[in-house]
Amino acid sequence: MTEHEERPASLTGQAQSPEAGVEMSRETSPETGVEMSQETGRDPVRILAIESSCDETAAAVVENGRKVLSSVIYSQIETHTVFGGVVPEIASRKHIEKINQVVDAALKESGIPLRELSAVAVTMGPGLVGPLLIGVSFAKALAFAEDLPLLGVNHIEGHVSANFIAHPDLEPPFLCLIVSGGHTHLVVVEDYGRYRLVGRTRDDAAGEAFDKVARSVGLGYPGGPKVDAEAKKGNPDAMVFPKAKVHDAPYDFSFSGLKSAVLNFQNHAAMTGEQYSRADLVASFQKACVDVLVEHTIAAAKDLKIRKIAMAGGVASNSCLRATMQEACRRRGFTLCFPPPVLCTDNAAMIGAAAYYRYLRGEFSGLDLNAVPGLKLEMIPLDA
Ligand code: ADP
Ligand code: MG
Repeated sequence: MTEHEERPASLTGQAQSPEAGVEMSRETSPETGVEMSQETGRDPVRILAIESSCDETAAAVVENGRKVLSSVIYSQIETHTVFGGVVPEIASRKHIEKINQVVDAALKESGIPLRELSAVAVTMGPGLVGPLLIGVSFAKALAFAEDLPLLGVNHIEGHVSANFIAHPDLEPPFLCLIVSGGHTHLVVVEDYGRYRLVGRTRDDAAGEAFDKVARSVGLGYPGGPKVDAEAKKGNPDAMVFPKAKVHDAPYDFSFSGLKSAVLNFQNHAAMTGEQYSRADLVASFQKACVDVLVEHTIAAAKDLKIRKIAMAGGVASNSCLRATMQEACRRRGFTLCFPPPVLCTDNAAMIGAAAYYRYLRGEFSGLDLNAVPGLKLEMIPLDA
């Protein structure tokens, strides 16, 4: 184990930057001596959030859903790199080893003692069952021991909610492109916790396509950031790859054909001895992927007359996607927001943000809360 692995990364510095946090002026309640939010006139809601759905053990303390008091992420990437992907059993064991340390660090860094917390929130799904169970069991035990309310949170809702931290003025409704390793959805966020499904992938998620292409060209794991960096050295117009359209579902996505086209290109070149540049290949793949994501998002925004667009999930940190979407939105006068990269990939601050709105709605979980690996974000179909 390396020194780097041993140390949980503290990200409070970034998360509390003006870009990522809401500063609310506060005063002390004369009766309780507890700090009160001037904005709401009520005691601040401070939620300890825990995330362990995949290969990050993370904990954060978030105030009123928008202000990150602490955010600690311990990434297992180095452990899994040698296997070329996440090994669920190893991930579970690492979560067990680290969760106490990560939660302790988050509490310490927030300066909020356990007894002043308002609730404990935890990702209950979707994700890997073993890793999810570690977080859920830990959160249940803590909530029981400290007599705190418990909130089970949907991981995808967490990704969307990272935007509430990064953009203090962002309010629903808006259109959100959720692009991660396991999910690709286009949804209208009608209200807090209310999602209307506009489009989805029919096969691979966007992040999965990045990861598979990275592996096949020898860039290794994790693929997305490596493709992003390599593509900067290449010509995105060197090769033309197909952009799939789904019949009768204009906003749906399909990435498996694109992934196969890249693999076919490589196989063909290997058989014929044709030379090509890896940077050109991944730049062209990235462009095809990004163009489809941007075109479908903009088309949906125009058709549904929504002028506010957000992006969420690991792939939302892709530099080409950010630049292309920004330019497309600028030309049409749409506003665009996305979280800083540290809030795009898995973190617990986003779970604390999502949990706050569940807390306000009184959507608490019982101590029978369970991990649900295939948990779906409750979505209203477009035509409902
Ligand atoms: P999940 O929640 O589904 O595990 P995350 O939201 O943590 O996924 O995001 C991880 C995914 O994001 C991976 O597929 C990774 O390759 C991809 N990703 C991360 N950074 C980038 C990037 N700069 N460009 C493209 N993809 C990226
Ligand atoms: Mg995620």
